[in-house]
Parts: sequence; C-alpha cells; structure tokens
Amino acid sequence: MEPLIAAIDQGTSSTRFLVFNAKTAELISHHQVEINQSFPKEGWVEEDPKEIMQSVYECMERTCEKLCQLNIDISNIKAVGVTNQRETTLVWDKVTGEPLYNAIVWLDLRTQSTVERLINKAPGRNKNHLKHKTGLPISTYFSAVKLRWLLDNVDEVQQAVLSERAMFGTVDSWIIWCLTGGRNGGVHCTDVSNASRTMLFNIHTLEWDPELCRYFDVPMEILPKVRSSSEIYGWMVSSVFVYVSCLSQCLGDQSAALVGQMCFKEGQAKNTYGTGCFLLRNTGTKPVVSEHGLLTTVAYKLGKDEPACYALEGSVAIAGAVVRWLKDNMGIVQSSSEIEKLAAAAGTSYGCYFVPAFSGLYAPYWEPSARGIICGLTQFTNRNHLAFAALEAVCFQTREILDAMNQDSGVPLTQLQVDGGMTSNRLLMQLQADILCIPVVRPTMSETSALGAAMAAGAAEGVEVWNLSPDHLPHVSSEKYDPQINSDESEFRFARWKKAVQKAMNWET
Ligand code: ADP
Repeated sequence: MEPLIAAIDQGTSSTRFLVFNAKTAELISHHQVEINQSFPKEGWVEEDPKEIMQSVYECMERTCEKLCQLNIDISNIKAVGVTNQRETTLVWDKVTGEPLYNAIVWLDLRTQSTVERLINKAPGRNKNHLKHKTGLPISTYFSAVKLRWLLDNVDEVQQAVLSERAMFGTVDSWIIWCLTGGRNGGVHCTDVSNASRTMLFNIHTLEWDPELCRYFDVPMEILPKVRSSSEIYGWMVSSVFVYVSCLSQCLGDQSAALVGQMCFKEGQAKNTYGTGCFLLRNTGTKPVVSEHGLLTTVAYKLGKDEPACYALEGSVAIAGAVVRWLKDNMGIVQSSSEIEKLAAAAGTSYGCYFVPAFSGLYAPYWEPSARGIICGLTQFTNRNHLAFAALEAVCFQTREILDAMNQDSGVPLTQLQVDGGMTSNRLLMQLQADILCIPVVRPTMSETSALGAAMAAGAAEGVEVWNLSPDHLPHVSSEKYDPQINSDESEFRFARWKKAVQKAMNWET
C-alpha cells in the first residue's frame, strides 16, 4: 500500500480530517463537522475551544472508520499535518488544560477601541506604524489586539499569567498542544505563517519581537515556540492514532492553499473563497511592502534550514459568511448551496448592490467603522436578486484586491487560480471571471488547503514520503471559466459597486 498523509483542516465554519495518497495526491477519505459560532454581543464572534477539539477527534475517528470500511490499514498514514483558521486567539491553563475564555475569532470587532488606543500611541497616529516589522496595519483582525483584550478584561487570564500557567496560541497551537498530550507534556508551538499574523512576530528575523511585545504589553513567556512549517513537532497521543503518531507540520489555511495550489514560484497566486476571501501572491524569499492596502505575510518555510517565502495578501472579511448570514439570519435559503439556484433564477441583481461590511472593510480599505448596506432596491427586487447581489459582492471584493495586487506587482495576473468551499458554486465562478475579465481556474479537487498541509507534512525531514521538487508535483485536474460579458459592462457594474462601498464607509454622514 502506498504511504498516506492526513491533514486536519480546522476552518472558521467547519473542521475536516482528510487522508491523501502521498504519491498521487488522491483524496482517499475524509470527514467534516460544522463548528458553532456564537455572537454574544454585536460585533463579537467566538468559538468554543473544546468544541473545536471535539470536532477534530470526531473527524479523525469517522475518517478512520471509513478507511477501515475500505480495508485500508490506518498505519499507512505516515504523518498528520494541521492547517487552520488564522489569527483566532486562545489562552489556556497549562496545568488544568482548560481554556480560559472562548476563542476570539479573527472576524471579531470587540477590539475596536483597543485598536484606536494603540493607534493613538503610534507616532503621527499612523496605523501602519508597525508595518516595517510585521507587514500588517494595526487592526482588530490580528491576534495581538485580541490577546490584549483578554489580558485587560478576563480575570482568569490575568491570574493565569501571574501564576505562570497561561499559554497563548492560535488554533494550530491549541490543536497541536492537545494532540501531543496537553497538560501531560503537550508541545506548545506554532509555525512562521501563523506567527506572522499575530503582530508580535518580526517577519524579517522570523522571531517574536521584544519591542512589539512591549508595544502590546504581552508577556513573552506565554508565546509558543516558532517552528518551520514542515518538520516533526511531536507525537500524537490520541487513541485513534496508536500507530500513526507523527504530527509534522502546520500552516495557516491561506498558506496551505498556496502550497496545495502548487504556487511555489514568485508571481504565482491563488484566491480562496471560504468564510472570508484571501488572495495571496508568492513574492519569493523577499517580503514586498504594499503601496495599495495589501498585507505582507510569511507564506511558508518548508523545513528548518529552508528560507522563508513571503506573500502579498489581499484579505476580504466576508465572502461565504454573507451566504451563511442569508441562511441563518434572514432565512432566505435553507443551505449555502441553495443560493446558486436563487441567483441563477434572477440572472442579475437588477441594479441592487450589497456591501456586506459586517466586520468593517478589510483590504484595501482597512476601515473598521464601515457597515453593511444594500442599495438600489425597487418594488421589483426579490430574494433572488438579493442572492445574486450577495454573490456578486464576493466577486467585486476580489476584483478590488486583484487590482491592488496588480498595481503593487506591476505584472497583471492573466488568470486566477481559486479554491475553497464557495468554489463549488459554478455561477459564482462564472460571475468572477466576468467581473475580473480574466479566466478563473478551479481544481476539481477543491480541498487545496488540506492538500497543501498534507504535502508539507509528508515532505518533513524524518517523514519524507512526499517530494516537493518541481518535477514531482502531482498533477491536479482543473476546470476553467472564461469571461462571457464584455469589459464595458463589467466596468459599469464595478463602478457602481465602488459607489456603494463609499456609502458603506460613510453611512453615518
Ligand atoms: P472556512 O475554511 O472558512 O471554514 P469553507 O472553505 O469550508 O470555509 O467554506 C464555507 C463557506 O462557504 C461558508 O461560509 C458557506 O456559507 C460558503 N459556501 C459553501 N458552499 C457554498 C455554495 N455552494 N455557494 C455559496 N457559498 C457556499
């Protein structure tokens, strides 16, 4: 039997466990469990760390049962990789193993006043004051401000820090610590891609930065050890994996998708459509600073002695989340996939524009006070038009970050590689090609984050069942969507969208 590699993919909406053939990249089996999100106050978004771990265990167990039904011995799984929602922030007690608060999800806006306070401390009140070290603007999005909020507002966290029992981590650290033994000697680590989203990490030296930690007043002893994105971190102690025990890799979900889409060369890019939408372009071993509102991030470092690769990133907070909102809050659809039928029935938004700025606007605006608006409504507008406008919003937001990316790099992308949960929506893919005026290419196996995590895990020193050299990359089949409308029409709609964005940013004035 050929070697297998597994990946835990812990996303904002769901957790998955997937098993791949390390020679062909074929997906052998998987299981997925949806994750509950709670919204305790307006703008707050939390998830339960214990539920996250339970979902990981459940996915592993169910997948192993499925493998057994296929007569596949799970001892063929040589390593397990982790890919995760980034920035989401947790603090737990290393003695009891208990989380000290819910995970504060990346989308959460509670830190708006913390951000304002921090920006006021910066010379010239400049939100880009730390960009030279972090690649990021000071924003509610990143972990340091969420951790600051926990340190300021949660007694249990303060007490645990004082008694030297607190551990901070993003979701990858939490999962790895739990799976490698938790309070009985679990490994407290993260990788460079996740660390680069905290604002405490210097993306040039690839270390936690004392000056940044002082700025956010974060005690350095609670931070995990930073490792490369492809090495053996530790051994799993879960009962499911008595045979397979090597936990060898972690990568933030967007970095993993970049690897899974085989974007190893400078200039290659991919856009992932999940809860949010994230366009990353590989800039090679040099970090490139954006002039157009994009982030500079560590994409990956595939081995202890390998150089780090960087990416320019355009982040959109709300993509699939707008579909989930239409389902959960408005009851317009019963399932996310149903939106395609509604939008197809309308075939147009009929002049309706929907800016889903539920968490402010991220790239390229970075405007936390923006709020969602729907405009252009008439007596004729119905839920089908609204469904269409919601999908179109995802495409317009991508167009904005693609334009910024093209301006920053000076070399326009000639086609866009895409992946993520929303890309099963064919109407969305066609709409995206129409609005970008370039072809959109989607792999037929859309679990690219998990594939990337599995590739990096399988390539780790000591595992070495996956060869990442250019001649050995697996062939993944894809489908292509060519633009079908003329560019004048596309530009007209995009100009209208931009007007709607201005209204979302200035809705109170
Ligand atoms: P994440 O990694 O952020 O958890 P996924 O890649 O699993 O996200 O994608 C889930 C998101 O995609 C959800 O927000 C869901 O509403 C949306 N989604 C899933 N299927 C469809 C579809 N067919 N059409 C539109 N949106 C979809």
